[in-house]
Amino acid sequence: MEYLKIHHENITADIAHSLVGLCPFSSISYQGGTLSIDPGCRMCGVCVNDGPPGAITLENDAPDGGGEDALNMGAKHGEHEVLGVHREHWEHRENRDHEWRGIAVFAEYQRGRLHPVTMELIAKARELAGSGAPVYGVFIGGAEDAQVLDALLGSGSGGEDSGKGMGGGEGSGEGISGSRGICVGNSKGGNRGRGVDMLYTYCDPALEVFRIEPYANAFADFIEHARPSAVLVGATHIGRSLAPRVAARFRTGITADCTALEMRNGTELVQIRPAFGGNVMAQIVTPSHRPQFCTVRYKVFAAAAQDPDIGVTAASTKVPDVGVADAVASGTGATNADATVSAGVLRRMALAPEKLNSGIEILNVEDKPSYIDISEAKRVVAVGRGFKKKEDLALAEELARLFGAQIACTRPLIENGWFDPRRQIGLSGRTTGAELIITIGISGSVQFMAGMRGCKCIIAINEDPGAPIFGIAHYAAVGDLYDILPILIASCGGHQPAM
Ligand SMILES: Cc1cc2nc3c(=O)[nH]c(=O)nc-3n(C[C@H](O)[C@H](O)[C@H](O)COP(=O)(O)OP(=O)(O)OC[C@H]3O[C@@H](n4cnc5c(N)ncnc54)[C@H](O)[C@@H]3O)c2cc1C
Ligand code: SF4
Repeated sequence: MEYLKIHHENITADIAHSLVGLCPFSSISYQGGTLSIDPGCRMCGVCVNDGPPGAITLENDAPDGGGEDALNMGAKHGEHEVLGVHREHWEHRENRDHEWRGIAVFAEYQRGRLHPVTMELIAKARELAGSGAPVYGVFIGGAEDAQVLDALLGSGSGGEDSGKGMGGGEGSGEGISGSRGICVGNSKGGNRGRGVDMLYTYCDPALEVFRIEPYANAFADFIEHARPSAVLVGATHIGRSLAPRVAARFRTGITADCTALEMRNGTELVQIRPAFGGNVMAQIVTPSHRPQFCTVRYKVFAAAAQDPDIGVTAASTKVPDVGVADAVASGTGATNADATVSAGVLRRMALAPEKLNSGIEILNVEDKPSYIDISEAKRVVAVGRGFKKKEDLALAEELARLFGAQIACTRPLIENGWFDPRRQIGLSGRTTGAELIITIGISGSVQFMAGMRGCKCIIAINEDPGAPIFGIAHYAAVGDLYDILPILIASCGGHQPAM
């Protein structure tokens, strides 16, 4: 057991006050000339590492009267006040920058389809990792899917829609690239293509369909083996359920729905997202725990294009046919089936049988009927509060028809009851990375723009030249939408709707 020791002989009033201000959990107090630590202490280590030297230290051996009893704050040992803690509270902090290395991406795979957010996150992870740190992937499923593993390892041929996308919409064209059994490598070494450097797979019939307990066990097992410094998970239904649970197991923080990610000092993941109702873009870091967890929505980042510098070699790289039957079933750990595919490495892992148990029984899995998914639309006409009444939307609908676009809107129009909520773009709506978006009568709030910044071409129509939307628009039309839209429609050969 480890504990914090306060060296009272070194504590002056100034030092005490600086320690009180330092503790992020307000667990240090200074009363009647005595410094103490209360039970709210999370063992984050800030007071030890960043406090005045020799004031508070982390000790290894429980003193007499320590053990579980020492959990009582204020217990005295000799002249020192001690706090006993379980080692695991501390473990993830102390090895932080030595053992925790690289960036991991959860490859979401269900019913034979890889969610396309996976490839977007891998591309972002590659960018964040730079040339020094490894990028890991973790694949959890009922059985191996060679085509998907090839894509994750970056050994697919690239650019070919395999139809394996899982965007939830029809004809998404967002599938992963298919494999032709060729090897993609880099003369400098390392897998610097679209894929990960090392892919951990957990394949077992019990993992066929997502159930939180065995998936969390597999994910946690992966983290214990790979020890990545940061973990990126898609903010999908599954990702939103899985990531917080695994983060909690490691007693680390998680930031949901990040809209941007940066790497500071090589290891510190800056997780950026709107906060306080969108009034600030918060930069969130996890200074004292590893790994650093975040979720990111589909379409926030772009999937990587094939790196033109990457050479294509002729070596056959089909994922070697080592079935799960070969896996070592006793205890967790890598099976003897590690295999190198291209420059990326495949590590087949096995979970102990009890870790595959779940209290959830899946009786049946059915596809939901297809519905409008503006995330998948290539062209979008988005409307906002500049429209005075519902009937006037006929102008936007005619424009959408001419462009073959989906209609989307801002949140106030959902609140008006003008649209189905699935058409809302933004922080509390959907994200689109459409090739073309025309925003009409939309101011460009932080919350709205969080859902459409990734669009390739943004045309904005607004009568206010100072509207924030013009800050990100590629083309701006300043004027009354009731003047501009009829001209636009006529010039595209459309019909003026009766209003
Ligand atoms: C936690 C939280 C989450 C949110 N999530 C979302 C979200 O996901 N999506 C979202 O959209 N909002 C969201 N909001 C609301 C957001 O803050 C804004 O209120 C909203 O985006 C504004 O919508 P708007 O641009 O249509 O309206 P406004 O901000 O009122 O803008 C209307 C614009 O129309 C222009 N205009 C008016 N008349 C004309 C005309 N005749 N011709 C041309 N231009 C005209 C005006 O100049 C103005 O710029 C959220 C808010 C919070 C607090
Ligand atoms: S270890 Fe962290 S939570 Fe505990 S007293 Fe020190 S600063 Fe506060």
